[in-house]
This record gives sequence, C-alpha cells and structure tokens, in this order.
Amino acid sequence: MCGLERLAQSVISSLKLPYGFLKRDGHVCFCQGCQTYLGRAGFTSYNYPEDWYLFRVNVSAPPGRSLEEISNNWELCYHGTEISRLESILRMGLKTPGECYLHGNRTNVLPWRFKIYNAPDDFDADRIFLSPSIRYASCDSFSLPYCCKRKKDGLTYRVKVVLMVHIRPGSYAVSANTSGGSIDPWYSDNSIEWATNESNSVVVMGVLVKFERYQCVGHVGFPCLNF
Ligand SMILES: [Zn+2]
Ligand SMILES: [Zn+2]
Repeated sequence: MCGLERLAQSVISSLKLPYGFLKRDGHVCFCQGCQTYLGRAGFTSYNYPEDWYLFRVNVSAPPGRSLEEISNNWELCYHGTEISRLESILRMGLKTPGECYLHGNRTNVLPWRFKIYNAPDDFDADRIFLSPSIRYASCDSFSLPYCCKRKKDGLTYRVKVVLMVHIRPGSYAVSANTSGGSIDPWYSDNSIEWATNESNSVVVMGVLVKFERYQCVGHVGFPCLNF
C-alpha cells in the first residue's frame, strides 16, 4: 500500500460514510508510483487525475437509463466539492441548488459555488457545474480544501475532493472559465466550464481525493478533521 492510498483510506474511513455508498474494492491510486490508467477507461493525458486517489461508488442508474449505456456512451467529467458534502451527495446524487432547497437539505447548498468571476449578466447559478478538466474542477472556486490532521503523528494535510462523473451528451451547456484565472493549459478557457440543470443526466461514478502537506495554523469556519 503506497502513502497516498494509506492517507486516502484512513481519511475516508474516518468519515464513517453509510455502508454501501462506496464499493468494497476496485479503488485506484493515480500516484506516480502506482499503476496507471493512462489510455484506458476514458483517461487521456488531458484529464488524467495524477496524484489523486479514486474510490469507486456503487452506482445506480437514473430512471430509464442503464449502467451499460452510461459507461459506454456518457462522457467523463469532474465536479469539485468539499469533504463535508460528500455524504449528502452520495445519498441524493448531484442536485441543482434549487432541488436541494426542495429537499430541505440546506447543508448541501450553500455556498454551492464559492466564487464566480467574469460571469455574463444572464449567468444561471442554479445548475450543477462540471468540467472535463480535473485541474479546473479542483480549483478553489469549486472545491474547498479542508485541513486534516493525522492522529498518530500530528502531520497536517490539505485535502480536496472531486467527483468523477458521467454526463449524458447533449444535456449540458459549454461555457467560459468563471474561476478567476487560467488553470489548465490542456483546455481552452472558452469551453472549460460545463453546466447542466438536468440532475438525471449526471451520475457520480467515483470520489477522488488529493492531499498536500501544509502547516495548520488554525481555521476560520471549519474545524480540522482528525483521522
Ligand atoms: Zn499510489
Ligand atoms: Zn488544521
């Protein structure tokens, strides 16, 4: 077991997610030392989640769809989120902010997006935001980093969470970067942001986590996660 896998497994088990949300096995480490999936399963050098660890999700297909159709025909993309929303997303699937209000699950809603820059006047924020680029989906406008502290040695890490998603072709709009900066040289800033209001056209296939060592100096708004 490599260092990334050990970190990822212990952080995820500290969340005590309900049994059955994640598959028991088949998880994949994309660190440089482990096996790579480059050129397989839809991963190219553009969208390869290097240095991320992937937990596979027990997927159920939306009404009228089959898992076979989804894995063969739907497109791979990413959705940036944060660790505290993981359980409600795995429970409900990805929903638009408006749908979350209908379900009375405010914790899943605010702030849905942390920052929006350079948006046109008619920009519709009541959508699910995605990107073909994992670098874009994991930037701070979409994915809030959490501090986590390892009990056994006190080391602290920033952890980010991005969902691997399949989306139905034709169900989403392609638009320009609203993150406030150019992030991924592999993708044009004119088409790096995808958004949909069809939550039944989006299926979460996996949970990706990434770690960065950093010195914890206290927090505003969220606690350290101990694992
Ligand atoms: Zn590894
Ligand atoms: Zn901390």
